[in-house]
Amino acid sequence: MTIPFNKPYMTGNEAGFIAQAHANRHLAGDGEFTKKCHSWLEEQTGSHKALLTHSCTAALEMAAILANVQPGDEVIMPSYTFVSTANAFVLRGAVPVFVDIRRDTLNIDESLIEAAITERTRAIVPVHYAGVGCEMDTIMDIARRHDLLVIEDAAHGIMSTYKGRPLGSIGNMGCLSFHETKNIICGEGGALLVNDPQLAQRAEIIREKGTNRNQFFRGEVEKYTWVDIGSSYLMSDLSAAFLWAQMEEAKSITAKRLNIWQHYHAAFADLESRQLVRRPVVLPECRHNAHMYYLLLPNIAARTQLIRHLKQRDIGAVFHYVPLHSSPAGQRYGRAHGELHVTTDMANRLVRLPLWVELEATQEVAIEAAVKLSRSNAYKS
Ligand SMILES: *Cc1c(COP(=O)(O)O)cnc(C)c1O
Repeated sequence: MTIPFNKPYMTGNEAGFIAQAHANRHLAGDGEFTKKCHSWLEEQTGSHKALLTHSCTAALEMAAILANVQPGDEVIMPSYTFVSTANAFVLRGAVPVFVDIRRDTLNIDESLIEAAITERTRAIVPVHYAGVGCEMDTIMDIARRHDLLVIEDAAHGIMSTYKGRPLGSIGNMGCLSFHETKNIICGEGGALLVNDPQLAQRAEIIREKGTNRNQFFRGEVEKYTWVDIGSSYLMSDLSAAFLWAQMEEAKSITAKRLNIWQHYHAAFADLESRQLVRRPVVLPECRHNAHMYYLLLPNIAARTQLIRHLKQRDIGAVFHYVPLHSSPAGQRYGRAHGELHVTTDMANRLVRLPLWVELEATQEVAIEAAVKLSRSNAYKS
């Protein structure tokens, strides 16, 4: 591909910080760079405690353990999400209950959540699609009234806010991803934001294989031992060194992405007014991070045609999630609440365009021109 769908961005400082971690001879987790990243995340999000993990999947698994979900318990989430959102809870024996999404933001439709709550419901897992916040005030209010936990899947959401509050810092817990396809990266990586101070001590233990090793290192206990269930969820300090280089430039990375996003948005306004595409919707209470630029086509045939047209011009454009309720494992382990018409419809019509920091203006223009040509020649349905 002349213009790939994604190209991971490096600030230039990654290798130097990795060399420093190498020189420190601290390669395991919770070294100097992990500590820097923890402080940065706590400052950036206002979360009580940030804990680096080796993936967002790991952070979601930790959250499922911390939420104490038991076999047969139910967890409400959208079907239009990545498998890890559901898998983390299925691993605990819980049942994902899939709720439809909103037509505008493609986030979970908060007006449908309450009807999906049963005796067995323990948690709600909103996913902030494309880094645009869910309707968190309503979701938090429902959770409070029904005594449920809220775990934000903020894998797309670093540097985004909802009513001024950073995504991932609003629910009891939030999960971030630093996978190389996300905005701030280290290859494979993630973080658990523990916003509820009551969960913080257990979170450290679960992350350290069920031991109180962190307390031992702080001199709070005399020896460290096995005290709870857990696993090895830490990020190596080598990865944290890479991540630190990215965190230092998180503001400029976000600004550059937003710039490209805004160019696309302006370029496709005309196609939208002619009803040839629909552009993303960002509600006024949300500041987003330009994680993604997508278009909604009139139907699946039009989407297939557009992807093919772009591919012929060496431009990488891709669709996104296969809704979990329609997947083999989703059907085996989960349950759909209602028909999920919007989920099915949107999943069939969405296409994502290249959006990465070093995408050049000439490439942007070429992509815009190719989309416009394809849509203007298309049979309008
Ligand atoms: C990327 C992603 C994840 C998983 O992140 P990893 O760090 O790759 O484990 C989870 N949820 C959503 C919504 C994602 O996009």
